[in-house]
Amino acid sequence: MQQYAPTEAAQATGLFPSAATRRAVDDRLTEALALADARAAQGSVTPSFDRAGFNQVLAAFDFATPRPLEDVLPWVIARLEDGITHLTHPRYFGLFNPQPSFPAQVADRLTAVFNPQLATATTSPVPVAMEAHVIRAVAARAGLPDDASGHFTTGGAEANATALLCALTRACPDFAEYGARAFPGAPVLYVSKDSHLAWLKIAHQCGIGRARVRLVGTDGMGRMDASILEAALAADSAEGRIPVMVAATAGTTNAGMIDPLEACAEIARTHGAWFHVDAAWGGAVIASPFRRRLLKGIEHADSVTIDAHKWFATTMGCGMFLIADPALLPAVFQVSTTYMPSNQANLDPYVNSMQWSRRFLGLRLFLALATAGWDGYAAHVERSISLIARLRTALHAHGWKIVNDSQMAVLCAVPPSGGSTAREIVTRVVTSGEAWISVAVFEGQEVVRACVTHGQTDEDDIETLVEALTAPG
Ligand SMILES: *Cc1c(COP(=O)(O)O)cnc(C)c1O
Repeated sequence: MQQYAPTEAAQATGLFPSAATRRAVDDRLTEALALADARAAQGSVTPSFDRAGFNQVLAAFDFATPRPLEDVLPWVIARLEDGITHLTHPRYFGLFNPQPSFPAQVADRLTAVFNPQLATATTSPVPVAMEAHVIRAVAARAGLPDDASGHFTTGGAEANATALLCALTRACPDFAEYGARAFPGAPVLYVSKDSHLAWLKIAHQCGIGRARVRLVGTDGMGRMDASILEAALAADSAEGRIPVMVAATAGTTNAGMIDPLEACAEIARTHGAWFHVDAAWGGAVIASPFRRRLLKGIEHADSVTIDAHKWFATTMGCGMFLIADPALLPAVFQVSTTYMPSNQANLDPYVNSMQWSRRFLGLRLFLALATAGWDGYAAHVERSISLIARLRTALHAHGWKIVNDSQMAVLCAVPPSGGSTAREIVTRVVTSGEAWISVAVFEGQEVVRACVTHGQTDEDDIETLVEALTAPG
């Protein structure tokens, strides 16, 4: 049999260059990234991108001829500069996608070098302990009971799915072995119609089905209507279905509204259902001594979702699942194998959470909290809220109607009648590249939605946005 002999070029530009080469490339990359970051913050929020042209260039990468990393890197940086909506631009007033904090970026770099495997505490005792420490601190700050715990997730959707699996397993222990058929009637999940609709995918994935998600009506201000919720649970129970979970949203994606947490908790308790609070974005207000009270009622939650990659500004792919009674987790996620180095309930992440191989995500929030403290995050949260207040005042003065009554950093506003519609204005502003905002539907009405997510957006950026929004069409 002939032996495969890689070409010299392949060896030279290969996967594992010498330490000296790595270091040289790393240094140049650090420099190039700083420049690119500065250019992105100055340029258009939404660069123009030629998809057809790019597909052609991409096709030239046939992966047959190796190219030197030093040549490919500048190309990738340039393509990213003109090929994405820039969340790192201070006038990205968008969905809950942050400019990542610097400690979080540094954490990613550290993690990429050591690449610890967080499946077990046996192989990664320090990272597993650090993540657990951060999770307990966040749970305590949110007001959950002393022994509350949880874990990092890839995001809010995974955390919410974890909540539903916990609710199903507690409601019917046979669910673990036999699935939703083990229930004596169809299990049902309750969320508001303004909740994050990943819930539909989650109901599908967990096997209860999308039709078993009740999208409960709102109160005219984007909050779950507690009396409609109560009636929905009563009706399902009367017909033999099983209410397994009420998930209240604390900070809706569209409008930053908070469902009535105490009333939802009470209704869930009365019906024996799990009470979950989805605070994926809004959960960051726990940092602020002035805003924490907005989440009153969260302390009754069986579980809570808070994304680190939203208002806590870590890099993408970092959520948190908090649970009041972590002893339940092994009942949901336990599995025993011969090849894993350990199998420790309530300790090894792979038997207490959805993931198996696991990245050291928690370092991002650990480093950020260690260096900025809760006070640093409080300032970040308060700053976003006060900038949105400024935007609210300015638009109001221009005759706009502010339709959401949120105390968080999202604004939904309708332009004066007779001029351009919300949609026309958003298209115009986004096309100009001056700022990124979006159209949302709030209580049946199309609105301009703006959220401050960037830690360095300032008053001038708000002025520029106001000018762009109110410029004659
Ligand atoms: C963003 C969001 C989610 C989904 O979280 P991902 O991190 O995108 O998976 C769920 N709920 C709410 C309220 C959200 O804002």
